Amino acid sequence: MRMMDTARSDKLFERAREVIPGGVNSPVRAFASVGRHPLFVERAEGARVWDVDGNAFIDYIGSWGPSILGHASPVALEGIGEQALKGTTYGLPTELEIQMAEQIVEAFPGMDMVRMVNSGTEATMSAIRLARGFTGREMVVKFEGCYHGHADQLLVKSGSGALTLGIPTSAGVPGESTRNTLVGSYNDLQGLEELFRNNGGRIAAVIMEPVPGNMGVVAPREGFLMGVRSLCDRHGSLLIFDEVISGFRLAYGGAQTVYGIRPDITCLGKIIGGGLPVGAYGGRREIMSRVAPAGDVYQAGTLSGNPLAMRMGLQVLRHLAKHPEFYRELEEKARFLEEGFGANLRRCGVEAAVNRVGTMVCQFFAKGPVETYRQVMESDTKRYAAYFNRMLEQGILMPPSQFEALFLSGAHEERMLEMTVSAHGKAMETLA
Ligand code: PLP
Repeated sequence: MRMMDTARSDKLFERAREVIPGGVNSPVRAFASVGRHPLFVERAEGARVWDVDGNAFIDYIGSWGPSILGHASPVALEGIGEQALKGTTYGLPTELEIQMAEQIVEAFPGMDMVRMVNSGTEATMSAIRLARGFTGREMVVKFEGCYHGHADQLLVKSGSGALTLGIPTSAGVPGESTRNTLVGSYNDLQGLEELFRNNGGRIAAVIMEPVPGNMGVVAPREGFLMGVRSLCDRHGSLLIFDEVISGFRLAYGGAQTVYGIRPDITCLGKIIGGGLPVGAYGGRREIMSRVAPAGDVYQAGTLSGNPLAMRMGLQVLRHLAKHPEFYRELEEKARFLEEGFGANLRRCGVEAAVNRVGTMVCQFFAKGPVETYRQVMESDTKRYAAYFNRMLEQGILMPPSQFEALFLSGAHEERMLEMTVSAHGKAMETLA
């Protein structure tokens, strides 16, 4: 394992901390939970990223999901310069927005109509407003460990950076804003049934990551998703699938096509922007017709449907639609890591569980099985930090937190995956 020179990154971090809170524009980038300063990026291409000190890494952060074809993908970038020269934002509609909407509703069985926004946070917060407007009810249920962005009402027992930093429930969120947020446990249908029993007629919606990726990757137990769907139906509540990670990643049509469950509203983000800031929410026509200006639920955005983002996202989605083998190949890559990591763990006698759902993978430093938030929280984050650093020293950039998925792309070549498994083996030897 080599010593890395990170002098330039360290210097930039020092400068950044003077003018940007914590030196970063999104908390998990600070690498706080892995005990080191963040790396500042010079450039990225395919599955590789280079920092400002000239260190190269095989990247499994992948911008936290958007870069499914790899960084600087020629597919995503084609004609983007020309598009920019036509103007980068108009505040008027374009045909690109219709094409994007058509592409999305064709992919997702649960969507007849879709509204574009600028981030996953906007998508989930708008979806909640819509569910409340549509049902005339105020309460929403979320699951602990699931992350739906940083809107007040959903920052309760959150996953992702909030969980990593130990602030899953944020300061600055008035009790008033979360009074109507009920918290359930993922994979606990009985618990949800009880929430419905006690609050049945007042719950507008259940919002969930169908396959959570923000407390690490957790698989739905047999029948869980169908059970949630049935409870919502029985109580007249809407089911919102937050597929910001799983949409176009777990499969082209997201978790809902894999599990055959039709949510009432779906939230998307990440991949649909092809690397530019985009989110979306969509659902049944009857529900979406309530969004302004067609209906009385207000939601708007200066940059929503931005032409550059629409063009880049569309190019990626069209490519994925044309290449169904892409998902088989991505799953093969995920399986290769799962099996390689598993073999290393057994060989070295390290206690850890590798969770994989299709193309989503993560390794918990816990005894396993890891199927619930409580089991997730039993993982040893110090050991994860040591693992992260051992991998980094070998040129492999893993997510800097135990509570995140690792993100694979089409650009991760076989050779890179082999290097990753081999580096993982060496890291496990030091942790045995
Ligand atoms: N929902 C899920 C499942 C996410 O993973 C994220 C972000 O990681 C969000 C919502 C929020 O998206 P954004 O960061 O684009 O606001």
